[in-house]
Amino acid sequence: MTEGLEPDDLFALPGLRRSAPKAGFPINELFSQVAYEIVHDELMLDGVSRMNLATFCTTWVDDQARRLMNEALDKNIVDKDEYPQTAELERRCVRMVADLWHAPDPAGTHGTSTTGSSEAAMLGGLAAKFRWRKGGGTGTPNFVCGPVQVCWEKFARYFDVEIRQIPLRGDRLTMHPDDVSAYCDANTIMVVPTFGQTYTGLFEDVAGISKALDRLQEVSGLDIPIHVDAASGGFLAPFTAPDLIWDFRLPRVKSINASGHKTGLAPLGSGWAIWREAADLPEELIFNVDYLGGSMATFNLNFSRPGGQVITSYYEFIRLGRTGYTRLQSQLYHVAQHLADGLLKLGPFEMIHGGNPHRGIAAVSWRLTEDVGFNLYELSDRLRTRGWLIAAYPLPADRENETIMRALVRHGFSIDMADLLLADIARGMAQLEKHPQAKPLTREEAGGFTHNATAAVPSGKAKPVRRSAE
Ligand SMILES: *Cc1c(COP(=O)(O)O)cnc(C)c1O
Repeated sequence: MTEGLEPDDLFALPGLRRSAPKAGFPINELFSQVAYEIVHDELMLDGVSRMNLATFCTTWVDDQARRLMNEALDKNIVDKDEYPQTAELERRCVRMVADLWHAPDPAGTHGTSTTGSSEAAMLGGLAAKFRWRKGGGTGTPNFVCGPVQVCWEKFARYFDVEIRQIPLRGDRLTMHPDDVSAYCDANTIMVVPTFGQTYTGLFEDVAGISKALDRLQEVSGLDIPIHVDAASGGFLAPFTAPDLIWDFRLPRVKSINASGHKTGLAPLGSGWAIWREAADLPEELIFNVDYLGGSMATFNLNFSRPGGQVITSYYEFIRLGRTGYTRLQSQLYHVAQHLADGLLKLGPFEMIHGGNPHRGIAAVSWRLTEDVGFNLYELSDRLRTRGWLIAAYPLPADRENETIMRALVRHGFSIDMADLLLADIARGMAQLEKHPQAKPLTREEAGGFTHNATAAVPSGKAKPVRRSAE
């Protein structure tokens, strides 16, 4: 390049003729087009999100949702006074979700948007802990659950609550209602059924668990509330299995969380926590911020947070309504069942969850029923060469020796794409049968893409409580 002359090609500019800054804070500036190109091009190495069937989260939104996200880029949801209409949209969404989940008084109860189910779960757990303490609870609080998403292990660690995860037994992959009482005592702040397990996609039996806790109350006097982790089921069952009783129709259910950015169809960064009645959220957790000359209650772990997710949620709620959500979510199950049928034709697979809307979320999970000379980690690895990201992982305790595979069907995943995937699974299996690995690939070697984060320091194993009175 001659001194003083501008190159006419982006890739000839100095910033693109050396490697991108990587470690120390960069000293020099770059033209914005150059910096953009560097970042944009590096991101080509990321997977294609819509081919990522390991994620539960939104990977497709329409142009209007994109526009609203763009228009809301500078709106801070905590500034209720400055952006009162964003605050109003959040209030409307809370009422809508409370109504969807059959809260006795949807307009009068408490609820909030969050960054996702994790924050919502922390809030639900904290409310339970505060209620328990107000009710005279002393000592170390605990909560009882089945195989849960890692956010509950986080809640336990970060807020010093013992987690009592009931191990799997027999053929059952969800928490058995009959097992629950044995893990509860006077320090149990809540039982947390998962309505749409991360491992299998199956719904836990919230009504059965509620009934078991009613019986426990009759014999022991312990009145233990339920918090439902409906991260992905909360925006499915109300539309596709409305007769399934899992929500505030059960008086014992005091709070529910869901991820707006999963089946709620909002872009990433959206969740909801809703309480049955205003009184179920202890006042100590509420902080007031200015709002149109008065004040508004907030209860969040974050302070500043983007407003676009709530705005877009409202857009999706009014765009689709119950009719639209029902149509759209039913289609997901239709695709899931199509995928399950296709898989059964391909190999010795057994469906753990085949996409039945009364049994679980719009997902398919399966395992091998016989030795085929390859394992599911190897199949996952093969599929990755075609761009598909599909999780293979072991079941939770006490069935860690079994490997399963899971594919989430989300908005934007069509029958046509399912057919392409099935063809690639068939090709991958043929390849693996023809060229068996001398040494089977392990979970780690295969990249073991699981979406199930694990704690660096594992929690101890829960044991049933010894109760002398019964
Ligand atoms: C995804 C998920 C979570 C965590 O939700 P985020 O929205 O990712 O924070 C918690 N519980 C269950 C059952 C989930 O599927």
